[in-house]
Amino acid sequence: MRNIIVTGGGTGIGRAIATRFAANGDHVVITGRRESVLRETAATISGTVTTIRCDGTDPDSVEQAVAQMPATIDVLVNNAGASHQPDPAVPHLWGTRGQFTANYEANLLSAVLMSEALTNRLAEGTAALVHIGSLGTERGGAYGAAKAALASWNIGTARQLGPRGITSNVLSPGYVPDTEMYVASPAATAMHDTLVEDTMLKRPGAVDEIAGVAAFLASPDARYLTGQVIHVNGGAGTTR
Ligand code: NDP
Repeated sequence: MRNIIVTGGGTGIGRAIATRFAANGDHVVITGRRESVLRETAATISGTVTTIRCDGTDPDSVEQAVAQMPATIDVLVNNAGASHQPDPAVPHLWGTRGQFTANYEANLLSAVLMSEALTNRLAEGTAALVHIGSLGTERGGAYGAAKAALASWNIGTARQLGPRGITSNVLSPGYVPDTEMYVASPAATAMHDTLVEDTMLKRPGAVDEIAGVAAFLASPDARYLTGQVIHVNGGAGTTR
């Protein structure tokens, strides 16, 4: 039974990824800041699921969470993330600073801290790291810039872990509305038609479609795949 860590596994894409691995017979650990959400999610997933409360941006919280995790980690999915807007109650530049810092912490630092904390426990020769990026890297802004930084950091991480036979990739989704990030955002709901029109397939992505690619990246079939950004966006963004 493999040990899988899914940060932000209580909702949305992370929940679908956790469900997918648990259905495969893996032991899945889901983390997040809200214990009640984690418990509710674990109760709906059939399989072996452990919940650990953790704020991925707080080094002490990460240390405490890691202390409760298995001694050997087969797959780490750095899924926790969020898109933060400026606080309208603070002066302009402080709002900008706060927005960029919050996005950087939520989307980059959370992945960096968890990966650093677990690096000595990654299974030699077989472990896989999957970091959830975003098509937002092509759209700019504080969130897109933070996700672009995640992709850059991934290159060094893959290079560092490569000699140990460990892979590290970014899985970069396009528009996937069935998540808290979108349900909670009226601006995103208003953008629905535009975001769907941007895709070649003329439909939004489903959380299970992201989970399927995460499962592949963590599978024996993907052992020669590392240091990459894998785009899963229905054709809303293209690569050459
Ligand atoms: P959700 O808001 O449903 O999921 C985000 C999860 O991350 C929540 O469970 C949240 O739990 C957790 N989280 C947020 N901040 C922290 C933190 N500091 N420490 C620990 N956990 C945290 O949205 P999605 O499922 O959409 O997001 C999952 C990932 O997918 C994110 O990285 C997002 O940027 C990315 N993504 C999503 C897209 C989409 O269209 N939905 C498109 C491209 C990328 P809690 O609040 O309890 O901590």
